[in-house]
Amino acid sequence: MKMNIILMGPPGAGKGTAAKQLKEAFNLVHISTGDMFREAIKEGTELGKLAKTFIDRGDLVPDDVTIGIVKERLAKKDCENGFLLDGFPRTLVQAEALDKLSKEINREIDTVINLECEQDELVRRISGRRVCKNCGAPYHIETMKPKVDGVCDICGGPLFQRADDNEEALKVRLHHYVESTKPLLEYYEKLGLLKNFNSLVGAKTLFDEISQYLKA
Ligand code: ADP
Ligand code: ZN
Repeated sequence: MKMNIILMGPPGAGKGTAAKQLKEAFNLVHISTGDMFREAIKEGTELGKLAKTFIDRGDLVPDDVTIGIVKERLAKKDCENGFLLDGFPRTLVQAEALDKLSKEINREIDTVINLECEQDELVRRISGRRVCKNCGAPYHIETMKPKVDGVCDICGGPLFQRADDNEEALKVRLHHYVESTKPLLEYYEKLGLLKNFNSLVGAKTLFDEISQYLKA
């Protein structure tokens, strides 16, 4: 079974949505570094204060900080039955650190799922994105509307627009993706772990395709 998974793709490709579906279907622990940082910001911790200065601009949080929180999280007992890394690794330094630490704790990566999406579509998706303040569930004002305007279907929490989902920060995020994260595809291709999926097919079809692949 291929069950220690990395989910990759540019901002807006649908990692969060796919992660939510896969987590439920395959009973995986969902580890989203973005969610962990946002949680820390909400709680006002030192980590949150530090991360916020980078995130709001669209910049990457420094590698040592990010690697530290993932290392701690992956070592927890609940990860033993499989995990889904979402938004990590984003740099070569992170990928190499993950390689090392996943071997140390005997939780090696089985597969890397990459969601492909065109730039125009990324911009459209991110500018219309809304997120639940309580549970982080993602919505879109046109294509993934909640049943009641501004209210989360799952938990009833209020929906809001992320501070880094504005035009300026998005430009910076896409730049970092192309410069730092996209090269990792080649890294995982060489390791024989990469599997590409076209995310334009829509959330439901995409989920079916990934599920079939994981079950095969
Ligand atoms: P998206 O995939 O929509 O860009 P995420 O929720 O994954 O959003 O991440 C939001 C922000 O959190 C990133 O723009 C970055 O500032 C920070 N972040 C998340 N994961 C990492 C990481 N692995 N390394 C550095 N920064 C990260
Ligand atoms: Zn919610």
